[in-house]
Amino acid sequence: MAQILDGKALSQTLRNEIGEKTAHLKQTRGIQPGLGLLLVGDNPASQVYVSSKAKACEELGFYSVIIRQPADTSEGAVLRQVQEWNADPRIHGILVQLPLPKHIDEHKVLLAVAPQKDVDGFHPENVGRLVAGLPCFAPCTPAGVMEILSRYNIETKGKHAVVVGRSNIVGKPMANLLYQKAPNANAIVTICHTAAPDLTVFTKQADILVAAVGVPEALKGADMKDGVVVIDVGINRIADPTAPKGTRLVGDVHFASASERASAITPVPGGVGPMTIAMLMQNTYRSAAGEVY
Ligand code: NDP
Repeated sequence: MAQILDGKALSQTLRNEIGEKTAHLKQTRGIQPGLGLLLVGDNPASQVYVSSKAKACEELGFYSVIIRQPADTSEGAVLRQVQEWNADPRIHGILVQLPLPKHIDEHKVLLAVAPQKDVDGFHPENVGRLVAGLPCFAPCTPAGVMEILSRYNIETKGKHAVVVGRSNIVGKPMANLLYQKAPNANAIVTICHTAAPDLTVFTKQADILVAAVGVPEALKGADMKDGVVVIDVGINRIADPTAPKGTRLVGDVHFASASERASAITPVPGGVGPMTIAMLMQNTYRSAAGEVY
C-alpha cells in the first residue's frame, strides 16, 4: 500500500517554523513580513483563496492588507495599486489573485509587480532566475511539491520525473525545479502536454509522476509503473450525488488505482493544495528577511 504524503500535516509544520522565524525577525531586526492581496471582481473561488491567505498571515504574525476592487475596475486602477505597494515599505510581498477580468491585461499587471516583492514568482525576472539557477521566488505550488519530496526524503537525483502539464504556474516551473543542479533536485525530467501522441508511453516510465493536467482523474494506476511516487497537483470539483453537498474534490489522478501501484502518493484534498499557501508565506518571509534580493 502506498505511503500517503500528507501535505496538510507538512504545511502545518512549515507554518510553525515560519511563525517562529517571524517572531525572531521581529525581535532581532524589527521587521514584520507584510503581504498585499489584491482581489478584483467577485469570483467565489478567488474570494476563498484570498481569505485563507489573509488568515494564514494573521496566524503567523504577518501584516496583511486585502484590497478589493470591483469587476469593472480599470486596468489603470489595478496598476496604481500595485505601484503603491511597490513603494510601501510595510509590504514585502504582492499577490494579485488570478484570474483577472478579461479587460485587464494579466501579463501587464504581473510585469508591474516589483520582482523583489513578486512572492508568487510569476514575474519574468523570477522566471529567468529560476531557469538560471539563481536565488529567486519560485512559484508556490511547484515549490510546495519540492518541499514534499525533500521532507519525505524522496530521492530525486537521477530519477526520471515526468511532469504532465506545461502551464506557466505549475508545469513549467515544476520541471525547472526538478532538474536544477541542486540538492533535492537533479532529476531527469520529461514534460508532457496535449501533443503527446500516447501519454502513457511517458507516464509508464516515471519514477516520479507529477500530474498538473486540469482533467479530473486523468491518470490511472494502469498508466504507471510499480513503485512510482505520484504527486497530484490537480484540484477538481466533480458531481457526487452520494456526497452531502452533491460534489467532492478529486485530483488529476485516479487515487484508488494509482495508490495500488505507487510507493507514495499525495491525496486530494490534503496533499499539494495546503502546501501552496505555506510556500506563499515562506516566500513573503524570505522577502522580508532579504534572503532573495
Ligand atoms: P492548465 O489548464 O493551465 O494546464 C494544463 C496542462 O495540462 C496543459 O499544459 C495541457 O497541455 C496539459 N494537458 C491537458 N490535458 C492533457 C492530456 N490529455 N494529455 C497531456 N497533457 C494534457 O492547468 P494548471 O497548470 O493551471 O493546473 C493544473 C491542475 O492543477 C488543475 O487541476 C488545477 O486546478 C490544479 N492547481 C492546483 C493548485 C494547488 O494549489 N494545488 C494551484 C494551481 C493549479 P497543453 O499545454 O497542450 O494545453
